[in-house]
Amino acid sequence: MKNGICPRCHSTQVYSSSKLRAETGNASSIPLSFFRSIPLDNYVCTNCGYVESYVSEPEMLDRIEDIWPQVESTNSKHCEHAQKNEA
Ligand SMILES: [Zn+2]
Repeated sequence: MKNGICPRCHSTQVYSSSKLRAETGNASSIPLSFFRSIPLDNYVCTNCGYVESYVSEPEMLDRIEDIWPQVESTNSKHCEHAQKNEA
């Protein structure tokens, strides 16, 4: 999506709110903790309406790793299982 191409419909009509956030400070956000929230840059496809959100501040990604519980990855296990069934 950040490369200007919608992953859903492959349109190049992708628009970003990052400039708006930089100029006005207005951004949608998600809560990091009780005290802080994380501003997000939204990328919108004006062809199909698909929206992707990205954490705009790289240092916040480190904070998330410190504070939030990691989601257990089950995808790779699932793939192994599926391959065994096929064999
Ligand atoms: Zn699209």
